[in-house]
Amino acid sequence: MSATYRVRALSLKKTKLGEADLIVTFLAADGCQIRAVAKGARKTKSRFGARVEPFSVVDLMLAHGRSLEIITEAEGVTSHDVLRGDLDRLSAAAVVTDFLDKVSVECQTEERLFALSTTTLDVMEIVPVDELRALVIAFLVKGMAMHGYRPQLSSCASCEAATGGSGSARFSLSAGGVVCSDCAGADPTALSVSPDVPGALAALLGSKMADIGALAIPEPVLRDTLVLLRSFIAYHVPSRMKALDMYGGGAL
Ligand SMILES: [Zn+2]
Repeated sequence: MSATYRVRALSLKKTKLGEADLIVTFLAADGCQIRAVAKGARKTKSRFGARVEPFSVVDLMLAHGRSLEIITEAEGVTSHDVLRGDLDRLSAAAVVTDFLDKVSVECQTEERLFALSTTTLDVMEIVPVDELRALVIAFLVKGMAMHGYRPQLSSCASCEAATGGSGSARFSLSAGGVVCSDCAGADPTALSVSPDVPGALAALLGSKMADIGALAIPEPVLRDTLVLLRSFIAYHVPSRMKALDMYGGGAL
């Protein structure tokens, strides 16, 4: 007899297993990843199938299996159905779950990531569609900060000298923040960015998800910020994030 235990979790993705089962990947409330088998979840009368759809928050009862956990009960908390009914919301939410799938493997992320993630999905259900991109970008920079890569934006990330002034700013992927021109010259990962990007990152980091839309960051600044974040994430997180690669499509 193996003991069962209860955990609140966010469903990130599902993959087929055999004829009728699913393997569901979750972000648990402690910030770590759980992969669990939902037996019979692909049968039409399944108790689990709908409750463990990606973006759903569920209370799970789990038992230890040989290699994966086994779901014995799943009780829905928040289904986030609205995100599945609209392509713009779906593609924004998919960036969130793809990011979580890749970073939660290492289980080095702060517990606060779970609350950030569920709040982000809650807000993505209700904001106007044109605010979704700012939410995606805010989630990514906050998520990276909780994963151990909080960008340093107020002084040089290499030597602590003051940065700023006129012209373009430089952001070092390896040092994890803005760098002065001396340090940038010796740093092959230092990228030139628009001078508005560090300020946009700081504003996004300092605001609650519900207040991101009110920042009204101009579209070109958002675009440049997303381009930088893609590089920053690719440099520090080894797994490719397909949903992030595809996000924005023609609009960017
Ligand atoms: Zn420096």
